[in-house]
Amino acid sequence: MLSVEGLRAGYGRIEVLHGIDLEVRSGEIVTVVGANGAGKTTLLRCLSGVHPTTHGRVHFRGEDVTRAGPHVRVARGLAQSPEGRQIFTNLTVEENLRLGAYLFSDDRVAADMEEAFRTFPVLREKRAQIAGGLSGGQQQMLAIARALMSRPSCLLLDEPSLGLAPILARQVLDAVVTLKGLGVTILLVEQNAFAALSIADRGYVMETGRIAMSGPASDLVADARVREAYLGI
Ligand code: ATP
Repeated sequence: MLSVEGLRAGYGRIEVLHGIDLEVRSGEIVTVVGANGAGKTTLLRCLSGVHPTTHGRVHFRGEDVTRAGPHVRVARGLAQSPEGRQIFTNLTVEENLRLGAYLFSDDRVAADMEEAFRTFPVLREKRAQIAGGLSGGQQQMLAIARALMSRPSCLLLDEPSLGLAPILARQVLDAVVTLKGLGVTILLVEQNAFAALSIADRGYVMETGRIAMSGPASDLVADARVREAYLGI
């Protein structure tokens, strides 16, 4: 569904991604784990089209989207829920969801909103409330639900558990598994490597702008180097 070959990117003259190769197949949860500053957020920003790629290719559903802008990628089914939630805190839950559906007509938006409420029941209860009043976990659910409103076939998630207490982080990651059940393919970037690998099919370990290891998530969890460097066990 999504394939990345030799992707390089940086900030000004400083290159921070030094040739990333990565593949996400339809129906998978794939995670990219790595330390703070490894380049995970930059990679997701390149994939969503908000940060320029200097070298390499990105293909999505068979099409070369390397130079496509973010709106083109969203229209083709590639959506991102960025790090730090970035919801509109002064708008209601329902208004935030409507903004995620800007591509579509009203009939479809109502059906999609119903689906979002089925997936995240707490958002139904809070639909008329100002998003800034939600808890951290609820705001994260809203950010993911808003990305879903564009009906993506592939969702890019940047650190959805960041800053959440363990029980809320678990709920958010459970929600990611629910999305997989709905047929959404997921690329999940996480510093919380253990939690991410526990729900993923496959994983990539990123170290200073390069992929250091990759494989089935269960193999990575069992790998002594990964356990020592990223899982603290
Ligand atoms: P984190 O989990 O902290 O977000 P990350 O793995 O996502 O880390 P990036 O945020 O992609 O890593 O950062 C990769 C490198 O790029 C780091 O060295 C960082 O300092 C640098 N970097 C990130 N954003 C910018 C920027 N706007 N300008 C210059 N350098 C940046």
